[in-house]
Amino acid sequence: MSRSFEDTIVAISTPAGRGGLGVVRLSGDRAIEIATRLVKLPKRPLETQHATLGAFAHMESGRVLDQVVVICFRAPHSYTTEDLVEISCHGAPVILRYLVECCLAQGARAAEPGEFTMRAFLNGRIDLTQAEAVRDLIESQTLYQARVAAQQLEGAVSTRLKPHKRVLLDLIARLEAGIDFAEDDVAVIEWQEILTRLDQIRADLQKLVEGYEYGRIVREGLTLAIVGRPNVGKSSLFNRLLNEERAIVTPIPGTTRDLVAETANLGGIPLRFVDTAGVREALDEVEKIGVERTFSAIADSDLRLLVVDTSGPWTEDDTLLLEKLRPLGALLIALNKSDLPPQIADVAPGFTGCENTTLPRITCPPADNHPGALRATPPESGGELLKDSPPQMRRGGAPSAGVVLSGGLRGGVDIDNPNEFSRSLLSPARAALKGGASILVRTSALTGEGIHELKEKILALAAPARDIGPEGEFITNLRHQQLIKNSLGGLGKAHQAAEQHTHHEMLLLDLYDALRPLDLLTGATYADDVLDIIFKTFCVGK
Ligand code: GDP
Repeated sequence: MSRSFEDTIVAISTPAGRGGLGVVRLSGDRAIEIATRLVKLPKRPLETQHATLGAFAHMESGRVLDQVVVICFRAPHSYTTEDLVEISCHGAPVILRYLVECCLAQGARAAEPGEFTMRAFLNGRIDLTQAEAVRDLIESQTLYQARVAAQQLEGAVSTRLKPHKRVLLDLIARLEAGIDFAEDDVAVIEWQEILTRLDQIRADLQKLVEGYEYGRIVREGLTLAIVGRPNVGKSSLFNRLLNEERAIVTPIPGTTRDLVAETANLGGIPLRFVDTAGVREALDEVEKIGVERTFSAIADSDLRLLVVDTSGPWTEDDTLLLEKLRPLGALLIALNKSDLPPQIADVAPGFTGCENTTLPRITCPPADNHPGALRATPPESGGELLKDSPPQMRRGGAPSAGVVLSGGLRGGVDIDNPNEFSRSLLSPARAALKGGASILVRTSALTGEGIHELKEKILALAAPARDIGPEGEFITNLRHQQLIKNSLGGLGKAHQAAEQHTHHEMLLLDLYDALRPLDLLTGATYADDVLDIIFKTFCVGK
């Protein structure tokens, strides 16, 4: 990227395409001069931070092309700290492009992506974390994401790191002074003080590193694959989750033959739902490709929702899918079509299920007050996690996975009564689940029952650390996490050196190793190629 500060740069700052307004931005020493040459204004010089109505005319014919509003910001009180002019036109791409061409003809240079913000950074108006927050703010898809980015734009990350940098600098300065003056390592700081201060910094940085897992989800969102046999209601649930009719719903099995994806805002986190082709023995080549794509989508997704049709019998395909999904981590299972009479029964007592359903006999953890029965979830509770029961409490020997019962399941299943037990939907699910928690939610895509709860369960799985704290208290950027980890590496070594009362010169090296990554993070020091990587991801005009 060219970094000549001599140049005056120009770009269209509004998105490509037609719009009510379009803004052309100029920054640099000649910005005001170029703007005033191109726009006929009622008076000159342009008043700072005032909107002035002017006319933009064709260079050769002099014919007016557009009425424009010009706002001028004089250095250093501008976004870039340079002279900066914003010309608001009507949003006709042809006029905006022509205006830029005219600016170029007057000696401006086309701005690189993110160059306005880079100038703001290089001129010291914002630090690197704030510059990155500008991009995140522009890219935010939910208001929650925007709030997080806005906090970082105000300097939340740097503010959090500032005291740690100050302490490190203070330690370094005092140790350096000690080295200069002490022949024989006179204690300029007590070892204990050094250790205490390092511990404080390490604890806070560790918290930031751990918070990144949540921050990444906030910034990047997650993908959830909706999987199941054909006709179990995947597309209907997909539409329900998105609150709109997006996927094609028909009673003919195998309608969704390719992936359909849509992003929704779930609790401020962008969640990309992927409706997949129903998994079964494919009837034709197209369906086979669809099923293959389903398996790729399963592998690529962060979360998986298995949809089961409780109005029909549990099938081998359900078991096959469960076995495929189980090793991939926590699994959501929607017991769909709950509005219809169940053939795969729920655990409510007195149900009328299909007598012929043959399900593997497996174990259940006994309820507290009902020996041999599955623990009940009160209807008003949001479901509970049934953790692995101790081995001596199990029957049948199969390991039971943690299963969350949701959707107001009542009563219990008597495992001493094989008929009733064999009808429990939980049985096949449990048989195949050997590890990891599964969350079961009874849903009806038709009536909407359980959809709200399903969303809550998805969110709880997607972002378990939602109580992490206010927006500014976690990091969302991998670059930040890596540099903080590097700093922690230095701090760890420094801690060890202090514990072993190592020579101050050695300790200093470790302290510098801890400080350097923090400086790189905020951009107090930087490498040109890192700046290129960061600003390349910006849009032109920002
Ligand atoms: P997919 O093939 O798994 O995507 O299933 P669809 O969403 O296309 O649904 C298949 C059929 O089941 C359609 O006729 C839906 O209207 C119906 N269906 C889906 N969910 C429910 C539900 O919860 N209850 C009832 N009664 N029918 C449903």
